[in-house]
Amino acid sequence: MTSAPAYDPQNIFGKILRGELPCVKVFEDDVALAFMDIFPRVDGHTLVVPKIPARGLLDFPASALGPFMERVQRVAAAVKSGMKADGLTIQQFNESAGGQMVFHLHFHILPRHEGAPLMPPGVAGANAEIETYADKIRRAFA
Ligand code: AMP
Repeated sequence: MTSAPAYDPQNIFGKILRGELPCVKVFEDDVALAFMDIFPRVDGHTLVVPKIPARGLLDFPASALGPFMERVQRVAAAVKSGMKADGLTIQQFNESAGGQMVFHLHFHILPRHEGAPLMPPGVAGANAEIETYADKIRRAFA
């Protein structure tokens, strides 16, 4: 077993959190930011990242998990409602061996429709479509 490297603030999501890179935002408060995945595995694929810098689940402070997971749940509810989904797939990867590519803790929220498969990885979504889904999700926050 190898120990994880230290958090690198130059990761893409760190840059998005600091406003150095753009994102299509659907939710933000003092705890978390949620924005659209630009390589969506389904229409409405959304990411939720905590504002506290952490590489993955294991180096995130346990005392902050409750507030952060409450935001994950809130975004998940808006994604399901806004996308009129039948269900949700929620994913969280840790380290390369676990499938992680961006090393700032994040949860994937994937709205699922009965019988509809995931799209292949690594295919960029159309900007206009992503904006349309983001609008639906934003409107679903109570
Ligand atoms: P992973 O680290 O494997 O959980 O996946 C990182 C996710 O971030 C992938 O689904 C990418 O499509 C997504 N991604 C990478 N760069 C960006 C970006 N600039 N904006 C939004 N999503 C991104």
